[in-house]
Amino acid sequence: MRSNQPRLNKANGQLEVVLSHSNSAPARADAPGPVLLLGAPGAGKGTQADVLAKLWGIPRISTGEILRSNVANGTALGAQAKTFLNNGGLVPDQVMMKMVANRLDRADTAEGVILDGFPRTVGQADWFDEYLDDHQHGAHLAVVSLNMDLDRLVARVIYRTVCPVCGSVYNEELMPPKRTGICDNDDSVLEQRNDDRLDVFKTRLGVFRRETEPLIRFYSKRGMFLEVDAERSPESVTEDIVSGMMACRKRAEFERLSSSSRAS
Ligand code: AMP
Repeated sequence: MRSNQPRLNKANGQLEVVLSHSNSAPARADAPGPVLLLGAPGAGKGTQADVLAKLWGIPRISTGEILRSNVANGTALGAQAKTFLNNGGLVPDQVMMKMVANRLDRADTAEGVILDGFPRTVGQADWFDEYLDDHQHGAHLAVVSLNMDLDRLVARVIYRTVCPVCGSVYNEELMPPKRTGICDNDDSVLEQRNDDRLDVFKTRLGVFRRETEPLIRFYSKRGMFLEVDAERSPESVTEDIVSGMMACRKRAEFERLSSSSRAS
């Protein structure tokens, strides 16, 4: 571990950040505003979104999860989205923008939000830039790219299981529950997501390469862009994101101060 790397500490069930170069008590990390987690299916976006949302005290918006729950509840949105989800294709941009705008309009997003799975196309990213300008005073979006060798993703995804009751995600090989196939939290029988079947997964990977990878270039030219090696353990990936975000924020603050002193 690098020397100035913040460590995560679990106390009384709460995650806290400990800065290894300071003697200060563990603290809840400051939310860095809106954060987008970019990565291929299986790169760990959902796992990281969960942990970071608790750590920063801001909500996560997982568009895949919202869509799956709409399908399960038989809503009109679920009916629109179902075929795309089952085939591994993308739900049309207009449907996604409306759904995300509805969620972002809630008051709990004021301090920031973790976006897991949106934007996923350049069209969605353009729309989101405008949304932040119009509704969140041009808040700066921080982007974390979870990088992983795409060939290694298959193993992660085909062993992934999900609790149908509490939504906890496991991997029978890499992050197994205490008892095989049973949720640690509520003893439910774990299930495989329909779209984690190998044939559908291959389609999703193709869609990622074609539609979502261009977003890495789209965002990489901006200040708040961080690349993280997603092949490390989930805890190490979280630590890399937290320390990387702190560094990005310091840099952005420094640039803001230097440009305002030049202007005065
Ligand atoms: P995920 O749980 O993020 O892997 O998403 C599961 C599925 O939901 C995807 O394969 C798409 O069919 C759909 N989906 C989720 N987010 C989006 C998005 N931003 N744009 C279009 N479709 C999406």
